[in-house]
Order: sequence, then C-alpha cells, then structure tokens
Amino acid sequence: DQDGFVALLTARAAAEPDRIYARFGGEPVSYGEIERRSAAFAAHLRAQGIVAGDRVAVMMRNSIATIAVVFGLARAGVAWVPVNAQQRGEGLNYLLTHSSPRLVVADAELAPQIAEAMGPDATLPVLLHAPDGALDAVLATPVRFDEPAPAADAVFAIMYTSGTTGRPKGVIVSHRMLRLAAESVVRLSDAKPGDVFFVWEPLYHIGGAQLLPLPMIRDVTLAMVERFSASRFWAQVREEGATHIHYLGGILQILLKQPPSAGDREHGVRIAWGGGCPADIWPQFRDRFGTEIRECYGMTEASSLTTCNTSGVVGSVGRPMPWFTVRLLDGEGKPVAAGERGEIIVETSIPGAIFPGYLDNPEATAKALRNGALHTGDLGSFDADGNLYFHGRMTDSVRCRGENVSAWEVEHVAAEHDAVEDCAMIGVAADIGEQDIKLFVKPRHGAIIDPQALSGWLGQRLAPYQNPRYIALVDEFERTASQRIMKHRLSPRLDDCWD
Ligand code: ATP
Ligand code: MG
Repeated sequence: DQDGFVALLTARAAAEPDRIYARFGGEPVSYGEIERRSAAFAAHLRAQGIVAGDRVAVMMRNSIATIAVVFGLARAGVAWVPVNAQQRGEGLNYLLTHSSPRLVVADAELAPQIAEAMGPDATLPVLLHAPDGALDAVLATPVRFDEPAPAADAVFAIMYTSGTTGRPKGVIVSHRMLRLAAESVVRLSDAKPGDVFFVWEPLYHIGGAQLLPLPMIRDVTLAMVERFSASRFWAQVREEGATHIHYLGGILQILLKQPPSAGDREHGVRIAWGGGCPADIWPQFRDRFGTEIRECYGMTEASSLTTCNTSGVVGSVGRPMPWFTVRLLDGEGKPVAAGERGEIIVETSIPGAIFPGYLDNPEATAKALRNGALHTGDLGSFDADGNLYFHGRMTDSVRCRGENVSAWEVEHVAAEHDAVEDCAMIGVAADIGEQDIKLFVKPRHGAIIDPQALSGWLGQRLAPYQNPRYIALVDEFERTASQRIMKHRLSPRLDDCWD
C-alpha cells in the first residue's frame, strides 16, 4: 500500500480503542490513548499558530509521550525533526538552526543542554516533558482533532544522517516513505498477527521510527524499553514475549560476550534483523541463541531498507524489496559483471519511495539524486544468484600502490585483533603522488598494543598494499550521534604515528 499511515491510526482507534498498540517498560498503551494524546498535541500546535509544512524539533528519549508527539505532528502535517538526546554544543546548535523549527519539544533534563548549545540570546520556544510538565499537561487535555490525514507525499520528518562523512544532511522523509519502511519490516520479518517487536532503539533513528506504523499494518505489538542493556536484554525479551529483535553495528557481538547461560535458548525470538553485523558472528549467534539473522542494507534516503537477506546466504545483505531495483555501476557509469564491485544505485517502481532531496542542500541533493536514481556512494557486488554484498563506502577508500584499498575491509580485519577495541583508516599524502594508509587504533581497556607487532599481525592477513604504513594509538574517537567514528576529524599528521 502506498498511502500514509495517519489514517490507519485513526481508523483503528475508532474501531478498537482498547486494543494495545505498544507497551513501554511493560506499561500498555492503547490505540485510543495514542489517538487522544496525539489529537491533543496536534490541536496544541494549531493553537500556537504552527501550520502544515512547519517543522518542530523533538529531543526526547523513548516514552509514550514521545509516540504521542510524533503522531500528533504527523496528524497536523508538521515535520518532525528528531534530535538525538546525546547531541550537545555546536552539533546540536547546527541541527536546531539548520532545520529552523518553530518549537523544540524536549525531556526536561535536556533543557540545560539546549540552553547551553543555543546561547543566551536564543528565541526558540521549548516545551518540556516531565511528570506534571508543560507537555504532559497538553497531552492530558481532552480535545478533538478532526483535520483529514496529510497526503502521502507530505513531509513526515527531516531525519539527519549520521554525519560520518561530513556535516549531517537533513533527509526529507514523506509519510509514504515511513509507511514503506514499515512495509519492508513486515516483509523481511515474516511478521504474523500477535508477534511482539522488542524496541530498544531510539525512535529518533529511522530504524526505530519505521516501527511506529507496524502495529497498524500487521497487528503486532511494540515492546519498548528506555535503552539497550546487554545484561538485562534477554530477561526483558522473555518478559515481553518478544518474537523479533533489531540490531545495529556491534549489538549482536555485545550480546555474544555476555556469559553463556542455560536459559540462552529459552525465549521466543525467531528473528534478529538489522545491519552491520560481520558474517562470522551469524552462525555463532544462531547456534547459541537459536535466532535467525537477517542482515539488511539501506539508508534513510531510500525509506530505510533497500535489501534484506532472508535466504541465509552468509555475508550477503540479500535482495531488494519488490519496489526497488539495484544496479552496480563502475567509474564510467557502466554496469559491472557479477562478482565485480560497483557503486550501488537504487531505483524504484513507486514514485516517492526514494527521498525528494536534502533540506536546504541542493549540492548534496544533486549528487545523490540523478534522474530519479539514488547514487548511494556505497560499494556493492552481486553473486551469480543476484545476492548483494556490501563493501563499504566509495569515498572511504584510499588509492595506494596503484590499488584501491577499502577502509571498511582493513578496519574489519584489524578489529578482529584481540587488543583492538575499535579502529579507523584514512589516507595520507605519500611521496609519489599517491596515498599511504594511516590506521588509528583504540586499544581495549587494559590492553597494550605494540604498533610494530600489530603491523606484523596485519601483514599476515592483508595484501601488502592494504597493510597500513602508519599506526596511531588513540584513547577515544570522536563519534557521530549514531556512534560512528567521525573520520573527517581524524588528523593526517604523521608525528603521532608508528612508521
Ligand atoms: P552521512 O551520510 O552523513 O555520512 P551515514 O551515511 O553514515 O552519514 P546513515 O544514513 O545513518 O548515515 O547510514 C547509511 C549508511 O550506512 C549507508 O549509506 C551505508 O554506507 C551504511 N550501511 C547500510 N547498511 C549497512 C550494513 N548492512 N552494514 C554496514 N554498513 C551499512
Ligand atoms: Mg549517508
């Protein structure tokens, strides 16, 4: 279905007001309650003179109030600008300035963080959420909101990218895109009525937000918790009767590091879906917890999920959703052969499944969108059966000794070293016009790394041209809100390196 999702909420609330939409920390919230609270918030926006097409920034941790605010904004046709609660300082100032919101809605304890970021002359109104706070009074006021649901191509949200490669870019996400993102979750997860999706992930990422329409599409329940906790994870999953869990980056490795327990298989989780889990972890996780891994590839710009591996071919990110096609092009724009690497280009049969552009950033938009096709800047290859493999970012490679070296590949190998907690690779200028590789390494807590020994270890696992010429040890990396290393802030100086 290509429509938005607001009408689904109001229809369901009218038909079955007492049905449970979600639980938060075990506490149930019904469709009727979400309808009433979101109507109250939408009516409040109108009373403040905030109209369809305006933007409102929301800096809240997951809660029932957060869900009511997001649905309230959607019902009023006002764009939600989700802001990670960990943002502060200059980065937060950038988001709250660039998105030019009419209002900021925030958890009360974040008020000092916002005030500090915006400075003493700030005029941006802030509505705070706390027990008995101003927002809570608004949400508890019984008022009707009868405006029709916004059109499917109305702006639902401005979602900022991680900022891994530079300033975060504000992706314009339509109501249709969010609905499609939820539809892709239904497809990849074999969701059945009565299933329970465990949600630890903040709603301010597309990975969390895309779950909001899910209960209305497939009669599932969302079981939300405040934050991810490795030690409490399986107990929470059991308590909630979860059938599906979501992962990003290192989540599954963290769960594998917990001491094994006799109850590791005593839960109802059939499927773990997400992105960024190395292939060698899949069989380990499945054997220990009895849960199938479904690795996906995607980005906010293409309604979150472009491909997903539902076939179990280890290492692949699977095949495109039925409404997407993926092509791989070489540097001259020609399709590459099976097994060869090329830039991942995404096209769609549904107008509007790919984003219309970045907010106020025509250069980045023109680079990403060409004749309706999304040029992802990511590298992929297909096997003979049409399964896609992800090989990192195009721009994140270094030309070294006549070869292209993918940072993603070198970092994956280095991260397997016992003493390496995290690492990042960049290119630095070399004498002969090319580049040399500099690897930044953060040792594990208490571990000591001898760069020369690490270099020897890497030399046994990498091609000679891939082996970093320079290694620098760091205590901590500067990270984006989604915990990715800010590579553009890593220094190419050589005086901090082992050579
Ligand atoms: P920016 O665009 O600001 O540099 P970003 O691209 O990191 O930030 P996101 O939109 O959060 O921000 O991430 C999308 C990117 O994540 C994709 O373009 C791709 O590079 C990467 N990605 C997607 N799927 C996977 C996966 N399965 N494993 C590893 N990385 C992935
Ligand atoms: Mg990106």
